[in-house]
Amino acid sequence: LQKYAHVDRSEASRVSTGALPSAEFVRQALGEAYERYRTVQEGELATYIPALAAANADAFGIAIVSTNGAAFLAGDSSCEFTIQSIAKPFVLALICQEIGCEQARAKIGVNGTGMSFDSVLAIELNPERTMNAMVNAGAIATTSLAPGESATEKWAFIQDGLSRFAGRTLEIDAAVYESEAAANERNLGIAHLLNSYRRMYFDASQATDVYTKQCSLVVTVQDLATMGATLADGGVNPLTGEQVVDASVCKRVLAVLATAGMYERSGDWLYDIGLPGKSGVSGGIVTVVPGKGGMGAFSPLLDQAGNSVRAQLATRFLSEQLGLNLFLSRAAQHES
Ligand code: GLU
Repeated sequence: LQKYAHVDRSEASRVSTGALPSAEFVRQALGEAYERYRTVQEGELATYIPALAAANADAFGIAIVSTNGAAFLAGDSSCEFTIQSIAKPFVLALICQEIGCEQARAKIGVNGTGMSFDSVLAIELNPERTMNAMVNAGAIATTSLAPGESATEKWAFIQDGLSRFAGRTLEIDAAVYESEAAANERNLGIAHLLNSYRRMYFDASQATDVYTKQCSLVVTVQDLATMGATLADGGVNPLTGEQVVDASVCKRVLAVLATAGMYERSGDWLYDIGLPGKSGVSGGIVTVVPGKGGMGAFSPLLDQAGNSVRAQLATRFLSEQLGLNLFLSRAAQHES
């Protein structure tokens, strides 16, 4: 199939997306999502990164940024947390922009593993090894592809690119970075294992360090919603007006997100919510609604797969209330 990829290279191809409901409707639905789920107490704090265990378990915020730049906020919308795995789709987009989507597919892969985010077994069982950029193996390999001869240059490229998605300069939470860097044996092991299979494209230890830095960038739900809205807006940040990546990159990245953004629960997520989304262990979730906007939700209590319980509930509610599910259709008017 890949041989025939040229058929849809045209940027002029038709796009069909629709629009969000009215601002008043979105505001109300957002407030209702917050009220409905703010008292849910299920889930556990992540503890394998020691600094994350200190998070405020009650924090809960939701944001929507539309592709026309309107922002809607509910709950603890200014609460800061580390981006963790939610950096992965945005780093993939930056790398696709640099090396091309087909090169990225060849070097990383675009299929699901059906296994947890840090699975070593997935590397051993699958001949592609890295599998996709949403699990740690593929994500560290993706980071290793950042342009630059040194880790410093690669880090500068990633910090700058993620900041352009957010529309403001994102900084590292030093305590979380140091905590994860000091307990990083598993990710280092994954990176070195990939090296043995020639699926790591820079020094394995240094690439893991850059990856750990990218996970430690501090964001709010509004940042996540803006970043998501950029992927929903043909690669243009709706707040700054900057073209961060091409529209053709967005559609490929969103396909990988839909396949693997919620790890081994990606099928359940798509079944319930019908939108590409990405979770992180600090409790954030970004969801992308192509052509309409981005959603960010945050709450640190996680389910067994490492996905925020309240953020999943709020996103599901909003997908239903705002009619966002990509698989939804209404019968056309048929002549009788
Ligand atoms: N920094 C975390 C790790 O690599 C990110 C995992 C996640 O957010 O799912 O283990």
